[in-house]
Amino acid sequence: MFIDTARIKVTAGRGGDGAVSFRREKFVAAGGPDGGDGGKGGDVVFVVDEHMSTLMDFRYKKKYVAENGSPGGGKKCFGKSGSDLIIKVPRATIIKDPESGLVIHDMSDGKPFVVARGGNGGWGNQHFATPTRQTPGFAKRGLEGESKEVLLELKLLADVGLVGFPNVGKSTLLSVVSAARPKIANYHFTTLIPNLGVVSIDHDNSFVIADIPGIIEGAHAGSGLGHDFLRHIDRCRLLIHLVDASGSEGRDPVEDFKTINEELKLYSPELATRPQIVAANKIDIIAPGSDTLERLKEYVTAQGYTCIEISAATRKGIDELMYKVWQELQTLPPLQYYESEYVSEEPESEGPEDITVTIEDDTYILEGEWLMLIARDINFEHHEARMHFERTLRKAGIFERLEDMGIKNGDTVRIYDLEFEYIE
Ligand code: GDP
Ligand code: MG
Repeated sequence: MFIDTARIKVTAGRGGDGAVSFRREKFVAAGGPDGGDGGKGGDVVFVVDEHMSTLMDFRYKKKYVAENGSPGGGKKCFGKSGSDLIIKVPRATIIKDPESGLVIHDMSDGKPFVVARGGNGGWGNQHFATPTRQTPGFAKRGLEGESKEVLLELKLLADVGLVGFPNVGKSTLLSVVSAARPKIANYHFTTLIPNLGVVSIDHDNSFVIADIPGIIEGAHAGSGLGHDFLRHIDRCRLLIHLVDASGSEGRDPVEDFKTINEELKLYSPELATRPQIVAANKIDIIAPGSDTLERLKEYVTAQGYTCIEISAATRKGIDELMYKVWQELQTLPPLQYYESEYVSEEPESEGPEDITVTIEDDTYILEGEWLMLIARDINFEHHEARMHFERTLRKAGIFERLEDMGIKNGDTVRIYDLEFEYIE
């Protein structure tokens, strides 16, 4: 079975908690704080595996969790970082947000992509010593890793897509122009998986062609494929529209041509405008006196398409068709790469005015989205960063507010997982 979409949940590792610990030294009753920082949680990372061609592996396993960071230890020991979780995907994979359908990332650039970041480790109590607070009994907790659901979608990387009714000879054409060996049979629904073949024009020049089960096949099979497989020609630079010019199945080639283009348009108006070369196939079995080929040629050339007569069975016209396709490709833009459209939904930051302060005993607890966003991004290991944080709070008028509320020297201020002593 060909699996070309999957929905999975990825969760990065949580940061390890910072440690609360004190030095124990001979003759020193209580040593200084020496609690180390927690390790960072592991990331979840997608990497391209060139040998993979389907999303089959994601059929049963839906949850992917990276390792948590280890807690910090005494003697300023750092906790071990959690290992990243590597998820292998085919190069043609697009990562999307399942709710909005927006593209998060296109893997076709071949580079690793971090889809969920591990949480930072918490800060051990060694950092919290101040001249006035020599024995801080607190440490910072590790942060949660990012967690989200993502939709994986395969969109084949082929320069040329073959479209046309079932049985018109798409698989036969692919097999005569490339080393691909798709199933060929004289009945509909032969192709339920996309087949890729490489066409070599000469030593240095080649292009990739894809035979896509599609439009009519899926709809007839009632297997819910419908237009699904058409996504595989989304990236194609050019379409070969194959028509049975002999009318061997009793249909009219001109009507076939119109029907397929209508279906393309229904799936995607943009795809319907992709350049097409019409290949009038099965010219070896055109009945004497039949005008099907002439009418097809007349119709499509009047519409501005190039029409080439071929017989996939006898190879007549095949080289001419491939050469024409090659020439046309030289004038077209490269394969489509999907730019990222998804902006992760940060909680809407309101502003410092919205901070709420609650007092419990001598602890002032500050909460608010604005504050949370600022606190989350600050690396408290660096003195400058701490100073910056303090300045930001001061500028926002927060200390003034606390003073108005009656905060005294030595009271505790708690901002999410950070606690410090208030010094005037
Ligand atoms: P697809 O469904 O479009 O992939 O069509 P296939 O490649 O499976 O071909 C359907 C049938 O048409 C098979 O029996 C092929 O042998 C036959 N066929 C394909 N191309 C030609 C051709 O140029 N001439 C003749 N006579 N038969 C052909
Ligand atoms: Mg086929």
